[in-house]
Amino acid sequence: MEGSGQFTEFSKLLQELSSIGFIILDRRMNVIFWNRFMELHSHIKSNEIINRKLTSFFPDVNEAWLSKKIRSTLVLNNQAVTSWEQRAYLLKLPSTQYSIDDVDFMYQNCTYFPVKNSDNTTIAVGIAIYDVTEIAISQRLLENVTEQALDLQEISTHDHLTGLFNRKFFSDQLVQDVSRCRRLDWGLGLAMIDADYFKQINDTYGHQIGDEVLKELAQRLQRTLRTFDSLCRYGGEEFALILPNVDKQQTLMICERLRECVNQSPIICGQQKIQVTVSIGTARFEKNKSLEEMIAEADAALYLAKHNGRNRVEQHQTK
Ligand code: GH3
Ligand code: MG
Ligand code: MG
Repeated sequence: MEGSGQFTEFSKLLQELSSIGFIILDRRMNVIFWNRFMELHSHIKSNEIINRKLTSFFPDVNEAWLSKKIRSTLVLNNQAVTSWEQRAYLLKLPSTQYSIDDVDFMYQNCTYFPVKNSDNTTIAVGIAIYDVTEIAISQRLLENVTEQALDLQEISTHDHLTGLFNRKFFSDQLVQDVSRCRRLDWGLGLAMIDADYFKQINDTYGHQIGDEVLKELAQRLQRTLRTFDSLCRYGGEEFALILPNVDKQQTLMICERLRECVNQSPIICGQQKIQVTVSIGTARFEKNKSLEEMIAEADAALYLAKHNGRNRVEQHQTK
């Protein structure tokens, strides 16, 4: 019969295929077809494994899972696929990428499809196995590189003690925010915030507790702000704050709120209750004012707040 002759040719072709694994399993998981690719990569000859149970050669196959897959392919009479991302491999075969030390197996994508006999009843399941080790390794490397880049970005823009943005980020962000506010004709407030008598806290409780207090202080301030405000650790026990799109009154109101959120209750560190306060100096962005001038004005206002008794907010007054 012409049809069966064509099938024999096709089956020979699949047998000789060395770029894709091709196996056929009956419903009891006995191997009834094992092609050249499988011989090459498993070092098991077709005549050794045919009519033998697959799991007797591959004891670490997840038998329950594979049996379910075979049954569902037979019952649904449909193709199914699994990718290396769901399941790294179906059969543990050696890696084809010798340059990578920590990968000693072949990543596989698989397609499962029903195999029918001449009266169109499904009798077995064919499985095509694709070696995707190179793709999987490239993707994993890419993920690692992306993760490292994100870590680096986090390290380069954040302060490691408080988790706030660092001073470098502050400088870049101030340039961006000022340029946006200039373009949109918005106001912009800048505040310098300094913990009062922090040296005393270190002297009384020790530097380690001082660090914990700084962390909690940073969190209290951060929780009180809007998402687009940028609170940065400017250095030591000093913080800088950029408030885009606010006028003079709003700047003062926000800073009063910050001062009060620190003042309202002591910071608890283990057994200790430590009362902390902050002094704040504010300045506003104005046309023809440089960023350095604005920072100097906020600093001068902070100095005034310290001078006038601490735990207070002072605004820079333009003469
Ligand atoms: P003032 O109200 O005038 O600001 O008084 P002050 O004591 O806060 O100011 P001073 O500049 O004399 O001292 C700052 C203190 O902050 C001293 C320094 O050890 C402490 N400090 C700065 N950075 C850190 C830090 O990362 N951890 C701890 N624990 N202390 C820090
Ligand atoms: Mg201080
Ligand atoms: Mg200081």
